[in-house]
Amino acid sequence: MREYFTPGIVLDREPRNELDEDIIIYTKNLGKVRAFTKSSRKITSKLSGHLTPGRLANLRFVERNKLQLVDALSLPAPGNPKELLFFLNFINKTTPYGDADLSLWYMVEEIVGGNHLSPAIYRHLLERLGFGGEEVNCHYCENGEVNFFDPSETVFLCSKCRPVINIDFDELILLEES
Ligand SMILES: [Zn+2]
Repeated sequence: MREYFTPGIVLDREPRNELDEDIIIYTKNLGKVRAFTKSSRKITSKLSGHLTPGRLANLRFVERNKLQLVDALSLPAPGNPKELLFFLNFINKTTPYGDADLSLWYMVEEIVGGNHLSPAIYRHLLERLGFGGEEVNCHYCENGEVNFFDPSETVFLCSKCRPVINIDFDELILLEES
């Protein structure tokens, strides 16, 4: 059995059965991981309140065949919850599992700690995560002037295609200040 201690930020939670969950966490020392919990869906669970997405927490994992999250101690998340959840989904969709990246961790930690998200920060993160770089084209029409990133499909798109594809502004990351 191995044991790991690391800070992390809960990105998402998925119920596994009546009592247990899979938790997807962006961690400092292990990168993005998926871990299971025991009984965290019980009303009396001490773990559950610390696993709200967006909370920065000190975590303890044990690994036998699979990774289990056994302890979490969190700080309340500051900032705008809706903007934060959108950002967590973005990080979940754009990062690979098991790839620790300290400089990315510090950026994510700072943003979750209350830094305002802007198109420039998203553009920087996308480049940092290997999306785009020099040659970025609209996924649908190959136009070189992209205005949005769609985190659910992890593609760029332009303002002409957005109404055609019929994606709401709420679901997209704006890449240019208008
Ligand atoms: Zn287009």
